[in-house]
Amino acid sequence: MHHFRYSGETLHCENVDLAAVAQLYGTPTYVYSTATLVENIDRLRRGFGNLDVQVCYAAKANSSLAILRQFANLGAGFDLVSGGELRRVLAAGGSIKRSVFAGVGKTEAEIRLALEKGIYAFHVESEPELARINHIAGLVGQRAPISIRINPDVDALTHAKVNTGKSDSKFGIPLKHALLAYEACARFKNVRIRGVQMHIGSQLTEIGPFQEAARKLAALAAELKAVHNIEYISVGGGLGIVYKDALASGSPDWWAAQPAERRPLTPEAYGEALAPILAPLGLEVMIEPGRFLTGNAGVLLSRVEYLKRGSGKNFLIIDAAMNDLVRPAMYDSYHEIVPLRRDTTRRALVADVVGPVCESGDCFAHDRQMQEVGEGEHVALMSAGAYGFSMASRYNSRPLAAEVLVNGSGFELINARETFEQSIAGERIPKFLQ
Ligand SMILES: *Cc1c(COP(=O)(O)O)cnc(C)c1O
Repeated sequence: MHHFRYSGETLHCENVDLAAVAQLYGTPTYVYSTATLVENIDRLRRGFGNLDVQVCYAAKANSSLAILRQFANLGAGFDLVSGGELRRVLAAGGSIKRSVFAGVGKTEAEIRLALEKGIYAFHVESEPELARINHIAGLVGQRAPISIRINPDVDALTHAKVNTGKSDSKFGIPLKHALLAYEACARFKNVRIRGVQMHIGSQLTEIGPFQEAARKLAALAAELKAVHNIEYISVGGGLGIVYKDALASGSPDWWAAQPAERRPLTPEAYGEALAPILAPLGLEVMIEPGRFLTGNAGVLLSRVEYLKRGSGKNFLIIDAAMNDLVRPAMYDSYHEIVPLRRDTTRRALVADVVGPVCESGDCFAHDRQMQEVGEGEHVALMSAGAYGFSMASRYNSRPLAAEVLVNGSGFELINARETFEQSIAGERIPKFLQ
């Protein structure tokens, strides 16, 4: 559920008319809903009932400082995958002591920084990484807290590019080698075993793979608790969101109307299924949600530049492009596209919704049926709060978009649109070309 809906004929985020945001800050602009962020984390926590879960928000989903601050204020730690993300969390006032450091390619500088700032644990993905962490911890005179990322060999049944828990993925250490890997840890003098972790993939909409993987990891965790005295188990992130009926899914009525077998996984069902597997372990439980927390809490506002009528095909050309929101081009993903001003008297339009970038992949939707909209009007791409701005680039020398956070009836710019001067600030013409 979320807080984007039509009030009268205009699309609102909470109590803010999104047309006012587009008018004030221009487009393309990302807009996020505070109430949705808060509700999402509350629902996820409450889903586990009496079991207390530590939420480490996966910063890569949306690492804008204001978003990080919101989650820090709500007591979350962070799942970090780079030194840059770690520094963002610090800049936002978040706690590194509650945060974990994941990723297959941690550099020496990143390991040093994380140790210096008191990281809760490194989520280790390979033996050479373990050796490196051990070495650096020795140099700085610390014992590095570590957990091993286990690959449980479970198919997350999601898009190949975000399916990470199969045995052929680059992530983690196979379950069958786990005990040996932990024994190897015990031989490294400068590391301290703290827990065990997995993350099987992203945008999962069924409980089956989560349950299967959690059962496998829980069995291992029980052994690790007995042998190595671990403190926590992390089951990763991956809980999916609704993309197809994104706008309607803001309302509880939509959820109530879905037949049980077609109802997408809810945070309540997720917690209810996992809590009985995890609670008996008597360990701290960590989750690392990214997309679920921010995905449906954000939209991308864009202006219609042209409606180009072709032979047999219409193109709605908007001012947002694949550099702003790469998910459709990268994962063939679906984003619902709705007009900021609804007008039921208009004709329907079937069009490809495309951006101005010079690539045929710069297409947000194929043969999409929608209300006819014309030049100068605005649309919102729904469910754009996760893996939207955080994956943006400057391709085609387009500046990074602006970001706005809504809170009730108010809204504030949280990231100004990049200027041309900022975008070329680090560039130089070398002497030999002058
Ligand atoms: C990306 C990632 C997550 C978050 O995934 P979502 O699908 O956004 O919930 C959590 N943990 C790790 C290790 C990740 O790489």
